[in-house]
Amino acid sequence: MTRDSLIHNLIVRASSFCRPFTILCYHEVSQGSDPPSYCEPEQVVSVQSLRRQLQLLTKLFEVVTLRDLQKTLHQRGPRARPLLVLTFDDSYESVFTHTAPLLEQQGVRATIFVSTSVVDCKRVLWPEVIYMLVRYAPLVQLIEAWQDNFKEPRVQRAIRLVTNPRRPVQLLEFLKRLPASQVLEATQNLWKELSRFIPEDARPRYLNAHQINALHQAGFEIGGHSLNHPILTQASEETVQREIGDDKKQLEEIVGQPLVSFAYPNGNYNGVVQRVVAQQGYRWAVTLDGRLRSNEPIDWLALERIEQR
Ligand SMILES: [Zn+2]
Repeated sequence: MTRDSLIHNLIVRASSFCRPFTILCYHEVSQGSDPPSYCEPEQVVSVQSLRRQLQLLTKLFEVVTLRDLQKTLHQRGPRARPLLVLTFDDSYESVFTHTAPLLEQQGVRATIFVSTSVVDCKRVLWPEVIYMLVRYAPLVQLIEAWQDNFKEPRVQRAIRLVTNPRRPVQLLEFLKRLPASQVLEATQNLWKELSRFIPEDARPRYLNAHQINALHQAGFEIGGHSLNHPILTQASEETVQREIGDDKKQLEEIVGQPLVSFAYPNGNYNGVVQRVVAQQGYRWAVTLDGRLRSNEPIDWLALERIEQR
């Protein structure tokens, strides 16, 4: 089955649930032979594939940003095309260099979710740290640094999960179940100790403040995605407040406008996280829960998305 027929199937599946709108989630968009840095490389979309997807999707859907979704939904006539929201997570520079020009050619805009700790490449998101270290760091040094930074024997042993063969995704899934603050601190230390082994061209390239502002000026919506991308359901309420609140504040300084849309990192949320998101002034929040719940009322703070590849 070709990729385009897969997309067609997806559209049919979505339409068959009589949903008034569909939200798609993308991550990194790659050009040519750039090595992907996103921790699930099979979800990296090439420029060519994204172009073909957009040509098809824009014929079948009316594309709006998340900010405009609710308003458009209430205003449109009965014969209007179904609505589609395109979202791009994790602050990759490719959104500015590859994606925005393609979307502009098609006359559509997307919602872009940014984690501010990586803006201007100040940091690397922790899942990417794990992905790159498992792929590139020498095993002896990796195991040694891992065991220095994680104290619990159960967690220390987890590095054996990936040593033969190297399987970063298994380790990531293990880490997602640990306390978020422990994971953030240990992965930043690991990065300091071992990043010298990562080839320059394999490191993720993230948006800078100027590019974020330029995207906003061009009509793209900038949304929040937390400071450091922790699993918020594994964090204390204080950490949840800081991760969501500080990220929002910093992005609002860059774009000069209040943010209204948020994406839960890794899609994880619970009642506490949802409450903080609402208290911080977000009106819409998206998950990675691809279940198409056509019969349930819309929860505007838990909008499901379909991950595109
Ligand atoms: Zn993310």
